[in-house]
Amino acid sequence: MKAPYLLDCYKKEFDAQVTKVKEGVFITLDQTYFYPIGGGQPYDTGIITSNGKAYKVIFVKKEEGEIIHEISDLGIKEGDHIHGTIDWDRRYILMRYHTAAHILSEVISKATGALITGNQLETDKARIDFSLENYDKEKILEYIAQANQIIKEAHPIHWSLLQRKEAESILGEKMTSLAKGFSEDIQEVRIVDIEGFGKEACGGTHLKNTSEVGEILFVKAENKGKNNRRIVITLEKTVV
Ligand SMILES: [Zn+2]
Repeated sequence: MKAPYLLDCYKKEFDAQVTKVKEGVFITLDQTYFYPIGGGQPYDTGIITSNGKAYKVIFVKKEEGEIIHEISDLGIKEGDHIHGTIDWDRRYILMRYHTAAHILSEVISKATGALITGNQLETDKARIDFSLENYDKEKILEYIAQANQIIKEAHPIHWSLLQRKEAESILGEKMTSLAKGFSEDIQEVRIVDIEGFGKEACGGTHLKNTSEVGEILFVKAENKGKNNRRIVITLEKTVV
């Protein structure tokens, strides 16, 4: 598997071989644990070392099914063996935000039937956009309290990769509360199961347990046009 980070979100270092180099700085590997930008989650950064030299990984993206790492310097060649190290502080906070946003989105869509129209994670906040006609701040605070309850209850989180047909039979055809649905060309679907809370198709990096999120704090809610609401949250800095 080229992107094993989907099955092991806690792997911080790995070895790989360079399969392609474009313009000297765009590197493709035979496997990678660097997360490429996508689904509202930013790319991982970190270091790739090869032949005794360290290169910064400054951007990671997915293009035509391949994960491309942009590095800071020239020097890596096709066939080189590399050692990759992910900037764990950055990745781990993004995992906390991902799991937090995932839980809160599910709480909101279960309670209201709203679809999630967008989300963006950052290292100090996250926003979730959803379609909802009536905006009520008290209700939003209630959803956040419910999400915090799930977090506190310390639900284990599991994930597995399934063929699309099998995934659809478990989750129903839509598989997700994302308004845009699940891309047609994805044949292998990763299912994230927050034990005792809910299963959903998801391609982001997740915590092993909801308790690692810490606590979700409300920042603000905005109207983004008719039927479109935005919530901004932040996380308590320290995790108990
Ligand atoms: Zn998720």
